[in-house]
Amino acid sequence: MLTIQRVVLSSRPGKNGHPSPDNFRVEETSLSTELKQGQVLIRTLYLSVDPYMRCRMNDDTGADYLQPWRLEECIDGGGVGVVEASKNAELIVGDIATSFNWRWQTHDVVHGSCVQKIDPAMVDGHLSYVLGAVGMPGLTALLGVREKGHVTPGAGQTMVVSGACGACGSLAGQIGRLDGCERVVGICGSDKKCHTLISQLGFTAAVNYKKGDISAALRDSCPNGVDIYFDNVGGPITDTVISQMNSGAHVILCGEISQYNKDLPYPTPLSKETQEALSCKNITRERFMVLNYMDKHKEGMELLSQWVKSGQIKVLETVTNGIENMGVAFCSMMTGGNIGKQVVKISA
Ligand code: NDP
Repeated sequence: MLTIQRVVLSSRPGKNGHPSPDNFRVEETSLSTELKQGQVLIRTLYLSVDPYMRCRMNDDTGADYLQPWRLEECIDGGGVGVVEASKNAELIVGDIATSFNWRWQTHDVVHGSCVQKIDPAMVDGHLSYVLGAVGMPGLTALLGVREKGHVTPGAGQTMVVSGACGACGSLAGQIGRLDGCERVVGICGSDKKCHTLISQLGFTAAVNYKKGDISAALRDSCPNGVDIYFDNVGGPITDTVISQMNSGAHVILCGEISQYNKDLPYPTPLSKETQEALSCKNITRERFMVLNYMDKHKEGMELLSQWVKSGQIKVLETVTNGIENMGVAFCSMMTGGNIGKQVVKISA
């Protein structure tokens, strides 16, 4: 028996409430380390906190592909860890593995087929990148831009990214630039984030949506209007961006984090004015879902890995330490406490 720590959902914030660290509880429990044929003992290295988890905190997620977390049960999400004992022919001690359904526990026993083996060389040894730039957020940025963005090299396009200093946004902007946009403009929630986008990630300009007149700032940053909008946030920021989009432009509807603490359908209905702007200017606004492109994930991961290793893409992360801080890290990410991908380091 091994004494382990795990995180359970102790209460729900309610569909119209803000999540709080109190919704999560850390507890100690015992794990039998006796393995059945096919099973592995894994030690958790990093866990991911992601916006979609807000829906899983509700008793009805509103999405058929997402199951609600159950009260008093161990939470799960993206994780990466190391095999410590194995009765599975595909995995040996020391192998690195990942899963989208990794339990928020310090150790776990699972069937080897429930995790995917990872080559640490893919991420140059930075194992947390498996949860970020060379993982689901990276694929979201890459495939979102490529499937819905219509970037045309040499066409002088301007791309705007909201939630620009987060996991997906920070990568989407860099990919827009690599794929040939002339200007990449980020919208985010602090001056420090704006500075980071320009000085470290090569964004052309950045707008702090918490300060001043966003509409005027965006107009200054996008003198030729907006051709591509990678939308992570929805709400009033999106109304402002769409009002400055050119005819025939494209919105990549990736997410609407500004609406996740409200009891509203996804995507949330647009105002009449914004709806009219879309139709008058023939702007496409298609919903993008990374899970709908499973056939492109392997190739996408290879490209992201190459870009990260060659330094063409710069990776930013906010790393919180300790399983006891999972709830704090989640709530911090939901309110903008992160720069780049928010992960939690569980063990070294
Ligand atoms: P981030 O790392 O971007 O973290 C969330 C960020 O959202 C915060 O840092 C905060 O930054 C910003 N934010 C929070 N509240 C608001 C608000 N009211 N208005 C504007 N910005 C806000 O998260 P991810 O990169 O993991 O996810 C970004 C988006 O992409 C989410 O909407 C998510 O649901 C979506 N997503 C979609 C996928 C798909 O397949 N479609 C897959 C993965 C993610 P700031 O300081 O700037 O406010």
